[in-house]
Amino acid sequence: MPNDSTSSSPPRTWAEIDLSALRHNLDVARESSGQEVMAVLKAGAYGHSIKQIALQLEQENLAFYGVASVIEARRIASTGCKTRLYLLGPTLADECEEIVNNRWVPSISSLKDAQYFNQLNATTGKPPLPLHITVDTGMGRGGFLPDAIAEQFPEILKLEHISIEGIGSHLPSADEDKEFTLQQFRNFEMIVKQCDYDFKYIHLANSAGILDYESSLCTLCRPGLMMYGISPLESYQRQIKPVMTLKSKITLIRELPAGHGVSYGRSVLLEKPTLVATVGAGYGDGYPRSLSGKKTAVIIRGKRCPVIGRVTMDQIMVDVSELPEVDAGDEVELFGQQISVAEIATKAGTIPWEILTRITPRVTRIYK
Ligand SMILES: *Cc1c(COP(=O)(O)O)cnc(C)c1O
Repeated sequence: MPNDSTSSSPPRTWAEIDLSALRHNLDVARESSGQEVMAVLKAGAYGHSIKQIALQLEQENLAFYGVASVIEARRIASTGCKTRLYLLGPTLADECEEIVNNRWVPSISSLKDAQYFNQLNATTGKPPLPLHITVDTGMGRGGFLPDAIAEQFPEILKLEHISIEGIGSHLPSADEDKEFTLQQFRNFEMIVKQCDYDFKYIHLANSAGILDYESSLCTLCRPGLMMYGISPLESYQRQIKPVMTLKSKITLIRELPAGHGVSYGRSVLLEKPTLVATVGAGYGDGYPRSLSGKKTAVIIRGKRCPVIGRVTMDQIMVDVSELPEVDAGDEVELFGQQISVAEIATKAGTIPWEILTRITPRVTRIYK
């Protein structure tokens, strides 16, 4: 299902999305956590296309789709998907009416938020609006501080037009600091118990939290990256399968003489005659320019071939001297199956989350 249905020639650069891998990874999240799942679909489902992934997961009986903003909630709602939509971060005052009218689920950070939603929902004549409490147990990005929730929770419970359905917190270092994260789980569980309230949903774990930690109290997990088949912790990578493979095609093959420069800045001057393939993808597709000069490679005919010279907006050059049989039109894997997103991220000086969310709109997504 290419998203560019008016095109008559095949795409030059495309992202293959393996839906069976997506389902497999979701099962790993379920089994590993023993909890219900909020599939995190923010940032265009990490570059996999928010609408398509929402539609694909509709049959999975998920508790929620997690989104970053009302724009994303609206995009999913426009597909007709019925899975409940949860707003992962704070909401602006002028977004709240839309949230209330659509029964999207906000996560609140203050008594003021609770009062505002209460007031807005009172005017709708609808049942109490379900919402979740966010507690800040170390992320520093949002939520009630532990002391504040202890003090204000009874006040929140008195509000008649909202109903507290869940309580959540977020892990800043689950893939970096085991000791801190273990303590964070304990703190969160203690806060939940102190509320002495029958929360339907208690949630803390992101991907690293799901894979590397356990909680007998939590009832819901929030996988993002792992659902798309990349583990934040290398040791769990073999349990999950990459969902996206970014591919392109060789557009041109030439033998360039020794001494010839390759790409902007002429940072590479060929030491010997070299068979150079030009490939039709660049940073304009989301292949990071910061990979320039990082000894990175692409896969052509199953073989790793070095990228030479700087990554340009629409094209890269690859040394294919060891593959004399290559031809224009040959498929090129930029990353996904045989070159991991994690490897690309490391070489580009960033993290897999950013590599995936950077894939630009001109890249056709093809679902398999
Ligand atoms: C993005 C996000 C997640 C998912 O994180 P991953 O590390 O990609 O699994 C979970 N919870 C919240 C609150 C988030 O913002």
